Amino acid sequence: MTKIKELPAILADQIAAGEVVERPASVVKELVENAIDAQSTQIDIYVADSGLSLIKVIDNGQGIAADELELAFRRHSTSKLHDKNGLFKIRTLGFRGEALPSIASVADVTLKTAMTDGQGMEIEIRGGQQLDKKIIARPQGTEVMVRSLFYNTPARLKYLKSPQTELAVISDIVDRLALGHPEIALSLHNNKRVLLQTAGNNNLQQTISAIYGVKNAQQMLPVHANDLDFAVEGFVSLPKLTRATKNYITLLLNGRYIRNYQLTNAVIKGYGSKLMVGRYPMAIIALKLDPVLVDVNVHPTKQEVRISKEKQLCELIQTTIYQRLATENLIPDALADF
Ligand code: ADP
Ligand code: MG
Repeated sequence: MTKIKELPAILADQIAAGEVVERPASVVKELVENAIDAQSTQIDIYVADSGLSLIKVIDNGQGIAADELELAFRRHSTSKLHDKNGLFKIRTLGFRGEALPSIASVADVTLKTAMTDGQGMEIEIRGGQQLDKKIIARPQGTEVMVRSLFYNTPARLKYLKSPQTELAVISDIVDRLALGHPEIALSLHNNKRVLLQTAGNNNLQQTISAIYGVKNAQQMLPVHANDLDFAVEGFVSLPKLTRATKNYITLLLNGRYIRNYQLTNAVIKGYGSKLMVGRYPMAIIALKLDPVLVDVNVHPTKQEVRISKEKQLCELIQTTIYQRLATENLIPDALADF
C-alpha cells in the first residue's frame, strides 16, 4: 500500500488550475476581474491567436506591493478576504487567492506592477517556478502577460475548441465584464484587431451600443425598481427585438456576471405572451444587493451563486419588466421606434 502524503505545492496548483483555468477565456476572466478589484478605470486586453500564444491584460489600478509579489502567486493568498466574517459579505470579484498560482502553474507568466508611477517590479513564473524578479520603471498599475498556456498540460490543449470558438468565448466573457462595469474603459484586441472598446463613462446604454450595436441599443428600454432587499437597474429589448437563445440575457449581481436559471426565466416571464415561441429577449439586468444575501462560494469560477430570497427577486424582476412593457404598449409603435 502507498502512504498518505501532502501534494507538492506545484502539483496542488495544477490541480486547482483544472477548475479555475479551463481555457484561454478563463485566464482573461480572472485577470480582468483582478484588474477590476484593483479599482482600475482603464483595462486593455490583448490576445494573440485566440489567447493561445498570448494574453496580456494591462490596468491602471492600485498595483501590487514589491514585497508581496511572490505571495500573490501563492495559493490561497489574497488581499481580499481576511476572516470568516468576510466570506459572507464579499464585495470583490475575487477572494479565493487561486487565480494567479493556478495560471502560473500551467503557463509562462510575466507580471509587471507599480503602486506609484515610476517604481515598479517585474516577476516571471513558468510552470510554478520563479525565473526572474527585477526592479523596473513603469506607470502605476499592473500588466500580466501569459504565454504558452497549457504547455505542460497537453490534455487541456487537446480539449480546446477551434481558435474561432475560443476567441468567441473570450469575447463573450469580456462583453459581460464590460456590461457589469460601464464605469471602466475596457478594450479587447485580437492580433491587433480591436474587438471592443467601451467609453468608461458609466453610461450602460452606450456600453450596450458598443457591444450589441447602436440599432439594438436603441430598441431597449431602461428599467428600474427596488424593494427592501434588491435594486434592479438595466435595459430590456422591445418584444420585437429577440434572439434565438437566452444568451443575450445578462445577469449582473453587484457587478459580477452570473448564470441563474430562475432569474433568467423571470426576465422571460416578464414578457408574458409578447414573445414568439422559441424567441428570447435581449436584456441587461444589473442587480444590487447586500452581499450577505448572496453566497458566491459555490463554484471556483463563481458564475453560479446562491441568493437568499431568490423568489422575491424573481418576482421583482418579472413585475418590473411586465409593467415597463405594458406602459410601452400605450405608445404607438411608430413613436416607440425612435
Ligand atoms: P484573488 O483575486 O482571489 O485575491 P488572485 O490569485 O487572483 O486571487 O490574486 C492574488 C492577489 O494578487 C490579489 O488578492 C491581489 O492582492 C493581487 N493582484 C492580482 N492581480 C492584481 C492586479 N491586477 N492589480 C492589483 N493587485 C492584483
Ligand atoms: Mg483574482
